[in-house]
Amino acid sequence: MTAPVTVVGGGVTGLTTALELQDRGRAVTLLTPELPHHTTSVVAAAIWHPFFQRPDPLYLRRATTALHRLTALAADPAASGVRVRTLTEFFPTATQAPWWTRELPERHRARPADCPPGYASAWAVPVPVADAARYLAHLAERFAARGGRIEHRQVSDLAAEAARTGAVVNCTGYGSAALAGDRSLSLVRGVVLRCAKPEGLHGCWIDDGDPRRPTYVVEREHDAVLGGTADPGLVATAVPEETVADILARCARLVPAVADARVLEVRVGFRPARGTVRVERDPYIPGLVHNYGHGGAGFTLSWGCAADAADLLGTTH
Ligand SMILES: Cc1cc2nc3c(=O)[nH]c(=O)nc-3n(C[C@H](O)[C@H](O)[C@H](O)COP(=O)(O)OP(=O)(O)OC[C@H]3O[C@@H](n4cnc5c(N)ncnc54)[C@H](O)[C@@H]3O)c2cc1C
Repeated sequence: MTAPVTVVGGGVTGLTTALELQDRGRAVTLLTPELPHHTTSVVAAAIWHPFFQRPDPLYLRRATTALHRLTALAADPAASGVRVRTLTEFFPTATQAPWWTRELPERHRARPADCPPGYASAWAVPVPVADAARYLAHLAERFAARGGRIEHRQVSDLAAEAARTGAVVNCTGYGSAALAGDRSLSLVRGVVLRCAKPEGLHGCWIDDGDPRRPTYVVEREHDAVLGGTADPGLVATAVPEETVADILARCARLVPAVADARVLEVRVGFRPARGTVRVERDPYIPGLVHNYGHGGAGFTLSWGCAADAADLLGTTH
């Protein structure tokens, strides 16, 4: 067993990083004031999908690592909450398969699909989709079963923590604005509707052509998630009726079966956005590695960023 590590943050990034470090033989303590089911992560539609990203080999490498890990977890969906579903993406013009599908393994290759009125092309890709609450609980259970410890407390000084424990990975999402003094972080508010699952709904559908109004319908085991919005800087938690009606109307254009879906819950989350994800060694604090700023792709990048963060920590710290 190599030197112990402290992971700060209990969302999808912190839990994934903690498990990756355990895989490498490290004894891990996770510090978080919130339980996983109170984090931003639990609100996510949790589709594996490279949202709004331009072609970028590093991004694709990290996302592909997560694709493999999540697909493997889908072998036991009842335990992990992860299932492979067909994601159909719609485009207003005739397009080739999305850039990110071109490098994927055979079983995840895109094929042309039918599209509803108002769209000119569609591509269907089998991708993993998580029921975020179940998936986070599964990660926490695995972490505990391998001897991981969770301490419920806020960290106010990463340098002191690194000096005390020797090796720290900072996975605090937007918390890093204060904790790491990172002014390039911002919040992008997202609203999703948890709905009763209409009879016969199978799959996921997305139109993410409008960066402020990404539209998606996600079938889950016991319900469906309809989204969404992406409002930079909006911090209100109240959601006007018009926003709910707009999401329902946009989703019904993609999938008519959800037009009368019964809304069970309106959920609000705040994506920790940054120009690029920060996965790097802190330039001033020995033993500290950062892994935050995943914006709207925390699940999509999770295992890839966790592996890179663990590589950066190495075995010397
Ligand atoms: C509506 C919506 C839909 C989304 N859909 C998708 C999707 O389909 N696919 C996808 O890949 N991503 C999606 N996302 C994005 C995804 O949810 C985020 O990228 C991800 O949750 C970020 O996870 P995180 O663990 O980095 O941050 P968080 O979940 O915010 O967790 C941060 C953790 O750090 C802790 N923390 C903060 N400050 C401190 C401190 N000082 N000391 C100790 N602990 C601290 C917090 O308590 C928390 O435990 C969506 C997001 C939203 C809002």
